Amino acid sequence: MDFLRPASWEEALAAKAEHPSAVPIAGGTDVMVEINFDHRRPEYLMDLNRIPELTDWEVGEESVRLGASVPYTRIMEHLRTELPGLALAAHTVASPQIRNRGGVGGNLGTASPAGDAHPALLAAGAEVEAVSVRGTRMIPIDDFYTGVKRNALAPDELIRAVHVSKADGPQQFAKVGTRNAMVIAVCAFGLALHPATRTVRTGIGSAAPTPVRARTAEEFLAAALEEGGFWDNGKVVTPSVAQEFARLCSAACNPIDDVRGTAGYRRHAIGVLARRTLTWTWESYRTAAGEGKAA
Ligand SMILES: Cc1cc2nc3c(=O)[nH]c(=O)nc-3n(C[C@H](O)[C@H](O)[C@H](O)COP(=O)(O)OP(=O)(O)OC[C@H]3O[C@@H](n4cnc5c(N)ncnc54)[C@H](O)[C@@H]3O)c2cc1C
Repeated sequence: MDFLRPASWEEALAAKAEHPSAVPIAGGTDVMVEINFDHRRPEYLMDLNRIPELTDWEVGEESVRLGASVPYTRIMEHLRTELPGLALAAHTVASPQIRNRGGVGGNLGTASPAGDAHPALLAAGAEVEAVSVRGTRMIPIDDFYTGVKRNALAPDELIRAVHVSKADGPQQFAKVGTRNAMVIAVCAFGLALHPATRTVRTGIGSAAPTPVRARTAEEFLAAALEEGGFWDNGKVVTPSVAQEFARLCSAACNPIDDVRGTAGYRRHAIGVLARRTLTWTWESYRTAAGEGKAA
């Protein structure tokens, strides 16, 4: 196995163009596990750790440009206000040691249906900045996941950054695991309320071959909130609305039975997480909008 160590972004792109099979390594928390277990024996390993811009982020007017290798710890420490859903998801990843090394670029590179960043990215609305010597393209997160552990990157492309819309309303992330730390999700759910557009977005993890949104549930909830005047009157969402939202989120799952849980359990648990995260986010929205309006 040859080790490539580009000293700049341009060198990395040139190396990837010359060796499209080269496997990039950022934090290494997925790559090294695969190599250690002999699941992968790449001809070239390409270390991205000498490229400083990959660990930088910029907070813009409407979105955050998050370098591919920004570790989860930094997201938790510095971007909790702008990206609350992603910060909550980052909190549930593994252990402090893994959170100090691993980042969203690696989560996207692996594209596991169980990756914790995905539900938050889907709910917030993200775009992946994919770059090669041929140029840059922005891949909407909805188009990024193409199959089990497959993504839309071309062989010569690298992820430079992820652009995530800044929260314009409350966001939540919840995960079911066998314990509170160091677990891959049995299933996970992200929810973002977007009061500016009076829409909601969801993200489901570990309950389908790829991370997915529950689009019918999103449309149902947005319509119910609009029709009931909830955005303006700040009332508690009626239990029947929450229940139907949960049912539609469960219906959006296409899970399998595996060692972590059965398909039936995952479907049920996603419904529970959907209802809980709706309660939490709506309570935050009501509080922020002013309890005075609430009936
Ligand atoms: C003990 C342990 C516990 C874990 N627990 C969790 C958990 O709870 N939740 C969770 O989501 N994950 C978990 N993981 C998996 C892992 O930590 C995450 O997926 C993490 O986000 C990977 O980031 P990384 O920088 O280490 O990626 P790496 O291992 O460096 O790379 C992962 C993949 O992404 C590719 N890649 C990396 N950077 C780029 C780039 N810039 N452009 C293109 N491709 C790139 C690599 O080639 C590789 O295919 C765990 C791992 C371990 C070892």
